[in-house]
Amino acid sequence: MESTHMWSEIKTQLEHEIEPDTYQEIFSSIDSIYEVKNNFIYLIVANDFIKRRVEMLYLKKMNRLLETYVEEKHEFRLITETQVNEKMKAKFEYDEGEIDSEEGYQSNLITSYTFDNFVIGNSNRLSYTSALKVADQPGIVANPLYIFGDVGLGKTHLMHAIGNYILEGNIHSKVLYLKADQFVEDYVRHANRKKYVEFTHLYANIDVLLVDDIQFLSKKEKSQEEFFKLFEKLYQQQKQIVISSDRKATDLKDIMARLTSRFAWGVNVDINRPELDHRIKILEKKLNAETSDQDLVPKKVLEYIASVFDNNVRELEGALKRVLFYCTAFNLEFTIKNAEMALENLVRPKANHRDFMKDKINRVMSVVAEYYKISVSDLISKKRTRNYLYPRQMAMYLVKHLYDVPFKRIGDYFNGRDHSTVMHSVEKIYNDQTIDSNVKIDVEKLSIKCGESD
Ligand code: ADP
Ligand code: MG
Repeated sequence: MESTHMWSEIKTQLEHEIEPDTYQEIFSSIDSIYEVKNNFIYLIVANDFIKRRVEMLYLKKMNRLLETYVEEKHEFRLITETQVNEKMKAKFEYDEGEIDSEEGYQSNLITSYTFDNFVIGNSNRLSYTSALKVADQPGIVANPLYIFGDVGLGKTHLMHAIGNYILEGNIHSKVLYLKADQFVEDYVRHANRKKYVEFTHLYANIDVLLVDDIQFLSKKEKSQEEFFKLFEKLYQQQKQIVISSDRKATDLKDIMARLTSRFAWGVNVDINRPELDHRIKILEKKLNAETSDQDLVPKKVLEYIASVFDNNVRELEGALKRVLFYCTAFNLEFTIKNAEMALENLVRPKANHRDFMKDKINRVMSVVAEYYKISVSDLISKKRTRNYLYPRQMAMYLVKHLYDVPFKRIGDYFNGRDHSTVMHSVEKIYNDQTIDSNVKIDVEKLSIKCGESD
């Protein structure tokens, strides 16, 4: 639908829903949409006072009405006349070429990922604070910002939050969010048709580059080379770069060191699994976003959900949605019992799966210990002599190789070792196999033994 027309329809609805005086005072004079950009629809209001008033009291309602008119997620934003004048002036000073290159440009930002709806706790405080600082002073305080951690813990959320925040302050800032695999795809597509110049144009004049899941550049040497060039260019121009990854920069083994070493030039922060209290807070916040009835779901039920889903935030969120849906659809009270019912299919396989994995891991440990003639407690101990170290690395490798258990969880089983220790062990055995035939033989024999039932 044509945007001015849409706005006039939304205005009509607002007129029905709010006080006539207020409507007259605020909305009647907003005739048209100033600009649609990056999924934001900008409206001009007379001054700061009205802007704040609308933001506080009516913006939510307006965005809700908007949902019925647009397919893709959009949100209203307000700017004052003074801001518009400043922007016009700024735009005038741009040269033509730069305006042209903006055509067809998309930030790829998801507007619903903001700092406001990101719940802070011990596990993510440092990442949050660093992200906010970067958003506040792009290119200055931490460049690049490198955020790493396991899946579902909020890395992508923070990256979008940075982008949204920057655009909110300056709608002309050219922010680009990109998944690393998308960069690779773009590169391959252009390279196949020898369109190298077009490829570089895709990333021309960027002010803020947000690259998600950088590990997907692994083994893609040509794309790494291109990314390196882009990185250098932006870095030299003091443009902000934010990178996320599932591991430390030093653990990105299949990406050229020339590139990964630069990630350490700025600030590196990690993001971990939230503790119970934090998970409860997250659920409360998510619930708040879903319903205006604060007491819809009793705290006890939220605590129950938070205690079961301890792996990551995405799962936690999914569980809450399921409970909401189940109890609403069947008209049931929000009790722990009903929540259990709603989550039955998710919880039981999870619990079963964990038991199953635990059995498998125990089996690997006893097989490996027996093979190298040591005890299981020595196998998982902190002793670092080679007669324990090598079997320990082997056992971790086998657990990963045979059952693909997450590194972090393997670490938990091996006496609380951390994610990167496990990853190193696994990689060590993996690499040693190719150069040392004894290692290869051990892996083969042990894999067979672990697979046999006791
Ligand atoms: P990652 O990129 O680390 O895999 P995401 O950013 O995609 O994780 O997060 C998964 C989901 O969990 C998203 O819906 C995100 O909004 C939500 N989420 C993660 N951390 C938080 C948090 N601290 N507060 C609120 N929502 C969060
Ligand atoms: Mg992500």
